[in-house]
Amino acid sequence: MQGRFGLSRKKYNFIRNKLVVCLFLCTLMLVASFLLSFIVQGAKNTSARKPVMAKTHRETTEQAETENASPMPTVEITERSKEQGQPAQVDEDDPDQTIIYLTFDDGPYKYTDRLLDILKKHNAKATFFVTGQYPAYLDCIAREKKEGHAIGLHTMTHDFNRVYASSEAFWEDYGEIQAIVKEQTGSETRLMRFPGGSSNTISNFNPGIMTRLTQEAEEKGYVYFDWNVTSGDAGDTSDSSVILENCKRGVESNHISVILCHDVKEYTVDMVDDFLTWADENGYILAPLTMESTDAHHSVNN
Ligand SMILES: [Zn+2]
Repeated sequence: MQGRFGLSRKKYNFIRNKLVVCLFLCTLMLVASFLLSFIVQGAKNTSARKPVMAKTHRETTEQAETENASPMPTVEITERSKEQGQPAQVDEDDPDQTIIYLTFDDGPYKYTDRLLDILKKHNAKATFFVTGQYPAYLDCIAREKKEGHAIGLHTMTHDFNRVYASSEAFWEDYGEIQAIVKEQTGSETRLMRFPGGSSNTISNFNPGIMTRLTQEAEEKGYVYFDWNVTSGDAGDTSDSSVILENCKRGVESNHISVILCHDVKEYTVDMVDDFLTWADENGYILAPLTMESTDAHHSVNN
């Protein structure tokens, strides 16, 4: 029998059946891919509506994970930090918490009260490494403590030649500032920061002094803190906008940041409001240092 196109009917039917099956499969695939894209689009829209914590460095680097994982724990922290400033528990081991320890050295001074007002406005907690350099402002230490900030010692005089002259001189000076802290707050503190940090080389006039003091601090039950983010306000710049950018950039590259600032610098206090607004918007937790916090130790160079 003769079919169409000069083919035998048998061959014509065979090819026609094949074409029908092919057409069916193609249609099926088209429908399936359409449905799939519809579902994916729907899922994206749903997640876009969720109040997700703004991007942090950690989230940027783990974006794939963030998008797949349930955002609930993060949201919970964001909502808590919006309402109360802090989550119930600061946990450095929790990958969903990006923590900033804002630290202020060398005060209290005439800008400290204004700084405390700004911190209060944002319900942000910080750490003050205090000195006795400006006796007229020492009562700020009482306010710092009362408002939930951490207090650490940073020497009475901040005089490098005096405090790094010997171990005895250092601890004698520390006794003086410790007594002031006790007078202002009712208790001693075991948090401390060395003037210039543990890595300072200004003390090189007394070889080995930092090696000895860091060991003695631990023996005496102190925890000394350095920093892993510097605001640049210790001589690099007096430009508030540069200090603000230094803080933001530093924080974005850390899961836990210990930022070095000075409340004796007006241009630093000037940028804190903007920094805290940015930190709030980006879901960071502003916490006071504790004995258990990251110490951000530098390597001792003397
Ligand atoms: Zn200092």
